[in-house]
Amino acid sequence: MPSLAELLTHAREASSRDQCAALDRDDPLGALRAQFVAPPGVIYLDGNSLGQLPVKTATRIAQVVTGEWGQGLIRSWNDAGWMDLPTQVGNQIARLVGARPGELIVCDSTSVNLFKVLRAALALWLAANPAKPQDAAAPVVVSQPGNFPTDLYIAQSAAADLGFELELCDAAQLEPRLADPNAAPVAALVLTQVDYRTGAIHDLGHLSACAHAAGAFAIWDLAHSAGAIPVDLHQADADFAVGCGYKFLNGGPGAPAFVWAHPRWVDKTRQPLAGWLGHTAPFDFAAAYSPAQGIRHYLGGTPPILSLTALECGVQTVLAAEPLGGMAALHAKAQGLTELFIRLVARHCDRHELELLSPTDPAQRGCQVSLRSPLDGYAIVQALIERGVIGDFRASDVLRFGFSPLPLRYVDVWDAVMELARVLDTGTWRDPRYAQRHAVT
Ligand SMILES: *Cc1c(COP(=O)(O)O)cnc(C)c1O
Repeated sequence: MPSLAELLTHAREASSRDQCAALDRDDPLGALRAQFVAPPGVIYLDGNSLGQLPVKTATRIAQVVTGEWGQGLIRSWNDAGWMDLPTQVGNQIARLVGARPGELIVCDSTSVNLFKVLRAALALWLAANPAKPQDAAAPVVVSQPGNFPTDLYIAQSAAADLGFELELCDAAQLEPRLADPNAAPVAALVLTQVDYRTGAIHDLGHLSACAHAAGAFAIWDLAHSAGAIPVDLHQADADFAVGCGYKFLNGGPGAPAFVWAHPRWVDKTRQPLAGWLGHTAPFDFAAAYSPAQGIRHYLGGTPPILSLTALECGVQTVLAAEPLGGMAALHAKAQGLTELFIRLVARHCDRHELELLSPTDPAQRGCQVSLRSPLDGYAIVQALIERGVIGDFRASDVLRFGFSPLPLRYVDVWDAVMELARVLDTGTWRDPRYAQRHAVT
């Protein structure tokens, strides 16, 4: 397998479509592309928002629907292993993020799981740090102003419920803020590891250590990390993590999310949405709640079996890279793709004053490249989509291109940039119909 340095050099030097095709021929991960349905005429640069459909998902869902549901009916909760699916899929995701079997479970959405872990962590912090009358300032939850909005909304509501305030610090200020002995005490640091707008990667281990030094919990959202970059929750000594099933894990629209709690905390916490499937014995139908041991008590209601089935197929497309170097190899390929994209944009779109918002160092970037244009970025993205190059737009001015390393080829990067150059050179994006806003951008 080529080293990362070689891969990056070759990607940087590719200056023709033929050279890109040669990179694809040498790509040790190239065979994994066949795992996905590829609509003709589409170059899909939005796997960071909704991963592509794996070929086997439709067949597997049909089996579960017609066989397990249609024929097995309610017996399938036992006979087809439906009850264990949240842990079974969780154990597979665990392998991608450095968690151990039994520590991570699939349920609910990322938003809901973040609420659960944050409330649980804050209650734990309050128990260890009882309020004193002389306390000047309310304790805080620290996050970043550029964090994904749902994370901020959830953090705000979970914090307010328990008398905490949410304090937002720019990335460069996080470390000094956590180390400031004169500022309000910090109970939790809530960050998304890979910035959804820019793709910049936070140092999970370093910032977790900074949080711990401040007496705070380190809570991580892995929405743009899981299935995209190598993550090792134990090595980083994180406290809690949540993440998304429908992005790089290819689980399908609205796929359930995942939640992880470090084993040192999991049984010390009480998550706030105690539901019957998190009970130690749901089918005792006891009136009093008694939480299951371990991460299972983070379950609330009945698991969505069809969605979990699709998510399992998606996760397995990523696990298929394990014999080929796993997440390190996937991120290395994504670095080659993003590096090529950036170089080609610089070369072929140089008249159009595009600005790179993503880190220039490929090791500091997740699997995406974000650009800013002085022109109408939304209309440019719409014009590209109409030509089969699907990226997305993030308010207020970000053109975002995701590079899922499993299905994408170097020639796709070449073709996408040529299309972007055409849209900009010809000004086709100026057609008023591209300015019309849709509900989802
Ligand atoms: C995509 C994403 C979410 C999505 O949350 P849902 O509850 O699944 O809608 C949350 N946080 C981040 C950082 C994301 O990128």
